[in-house]
Amino acid sequence: MIHKIGVLTSGGDAPGMNCAIRAVVRAGLRYGLEVYGVVNGYKGLVEGQIIKMDRSSVSDIVNRGGTILQTARLREFKDESVRQIAVNNLKKLGIEALVVIGGDGSYMGAKKLTEMGINCVGLPGTIDNDIASTDYTIGFDTCQNTIVECVDKIRDTTESHQRCAIIEVMGNHCGDLALFTGLAEGAEMIITPDHPIPEEDIIAQLKKLHDADKKRAVVIISEKIYQDIHAFAAKIQEETGFETKAEVLGRIQRGGSPSAFDRVLAARMGAYAVDCLLDGKGGICIGMVNNKIVAYDIYEALQLPRDKHASMLRLIDILNA
Ligand code: ATP
Repeated sequence: MIHKIGVLTSGGDAPGMNCAIRAVVRAGLRYGLEVYGVVNGYKGLVEGQIIKMDRSSVSDIVNRGGTILQTARLREFKDESVRQIAVNNLKKLGIEALVVIGGDGSYMGAKKLTEMGINCVGLPGTIDNDIASTDYTIGFDTCQNTIVECVDKIRDTTESHQRCAIIEVMGNHCGDLALFTGLAEGAEMIITPDHPIPEEDIIAQLKKLHDADKKRAVVIISEKIYQDIHAFAAKIQEETGFETKAEVLGRIQRGGSPSAFDRVLAARMGAYAVDCLLDGKGGICIGMVNNKIVAYDIYEALQLPRDKHASMLRLIDILNA
């Protein structure tokens, strides 16, 4: 039986992380555990930035974006000697188990800490939806809504000026944000790592639209496909005659009050993570698959194929072409 658990957020922040922290703290206290918050992810764990949490520590945070525990990246956490410092800090306080809210990198840290005697459970907190062991990650829904709101606004001015808009969205090698928002927007083209379109085909298609007197075009493209999206927009304009502007939405996509979907997802997953720790489990990550909350071994989760929403590509061919 465990008595003390910790919770931390790691990697990039995501709306809904606060709801997950709240769920872990409230569920832990409800089961009679002492709950500690680690500030600044694994960096804070190594530096001993660990604070005791009570009910009021997580009051009034469900609607807040970001993470009250703050987050960080610490490359050195891959070294066992650095992780040993973290383990020692936890042991000094008697903390026996940890909930880690973050992406796949954070999951690796959680698995390795488990192998060193601290049971860890990972929660998928990332806007990118790039974790295969869950249909949706915490933060993805809010992020896609933010993108849709931004693209709606860009569409207005794009249509008024009869332009083409090339809109780059986040995703970190995962095309889901582009795929979902492109579908939601009825974008003329969607370009993702799983759905690449050769440059000459993009230009030919946009030229065809412009020649057919199309008033505007919206192209949604995942980040990291073009190094210089503005140069690409200039090339499109030169070769098609379609006035083209590139927009990089940037970090606005990471912030904002979490959607109801993300809040509920985080609450369900956070409470389940505490159940798993109480059952003595570690080295696992929580997901939601077909609306059921499930747990996977972290190594198995990281091996799963990442094309969970590939079937949506067919819809795009039917609806957006
Ligand atoms: P996001 O999806 O937002 O990028 P992430 O959790 O994948 O989130 P990373 O920067 O990859 O973000 O990882 C977060 C932290 O997890 C790293 O800074 C590092 O401290 C730890 N980490 C990453 N990979 C490993 C690993 N192989 N072993 C131990 N710790 C790791």
